[in-house]
Amino acid sequence: MVIRKVAPGVFLIDVWDMGIPGRTAAYLVQGERKCALIDTGPAQSRKHISRALQEVGLGPRDLEFIILTHIHIDHAGGAGQLLELFPGARVIVHAKGARHLAAPGDLKAASRKARREYPFHPCEFLPIPEEKIEAVNGDRQLALDGRTLTLLETPGHASHSICIHDDLTNGIFVGDSLGVKIDYTVDRQKYEIFLPAMVPPRFEPEEALYSAEKLAAFRPQWFFYSHFGASRETERLLAKYRSVVGRARAIAENLIEEGADEEAASACVNRWLLREVLEIPHANLDKITSQIKVSLELNIRGLVRYITGKKGA
Ligand SMILES: [Zn+2]
Repeated sequence: MVIRKVAPGVFLIDVWDMGIPGRTAAYLVQGERKCALIDTGPAQSRKHISRALQEVGLGPRDLEFIILTHIHIDHAGGAGQLLELFPGARVIVHAKGARHLAAPGDLKAASRKARREYPFHPCEFLPIPEEKIEAVNGDRQLALDGRTLTLLETPGHASHSICIHDDLTNGIFVGDSLGVKIDYTVDRQKYEIFLPAMVPPRFEPEEALYSAEKLAAFRPQWFFYSHFGASRETERLLAKYRSVVGRARAIAENLIEEGADEEAASACVNRWLLREVLEIPHANLDKITSQIKVSLELNIRGLVRYITGKKGA
């Protein structure tokens, strides 16, 4: 499966991030004539996206917008490559991320640092010409003939995160702003892996909770997750996110008060995520965590970084 329709005029593209299916998605949103691609996956996803867009008959001039929920490598690493295939497109990104796309030196270095243990995830970014970038500051609307996309600032996961509300489906493309929800099947049993996406370099629980309230106000019918897929269980998933991030904030406050060092904080956060957040039976933990090892470690590091940052403040 390269591309599939998940809601009216909304198509999911599996970008095979890190060579793994069902981990990271991009979405194609179709208006009557114009189309927008939401996120691109990393640079290595180029062939999956181009094949998917060909499959739905999109020519090189048919893509109007490439909207990036944020500039982390698994969402935006392929934007430069995609622009070569679709030269008529404009790249829409939060103003705080724009300059890094034009001159991706810092971004490459930061991605390498964050993912240094994962050499299978090469950190490639092609610079994007400045005239192709449309930086957004504050919420704004984008007409896609027949539907209106509203870009919403949702800091928390990153300071420059945005979500995209689609009026036609009353759905929200959440990027990583409501965490990660991936369904796995182990021994024919289904599990929902849910992690709050508290990744380095700058997770802010207070902002994340505020952004979740902002999204809740739409009473959305759909969440389109980058990791992974479309869900109509919006109320349950919002409640879960708020509860997990609220708990993360409380744990962080305790650890800061205790003056816990990095090692102690990591151990505590690790224990909490494994025991209380992942909700996986102990017997299956090894099988599943090997698949989500990267996400789990980044979640631990992100919260610990927030804790040590506050301690030093
Ligand atoms: Zn991210």
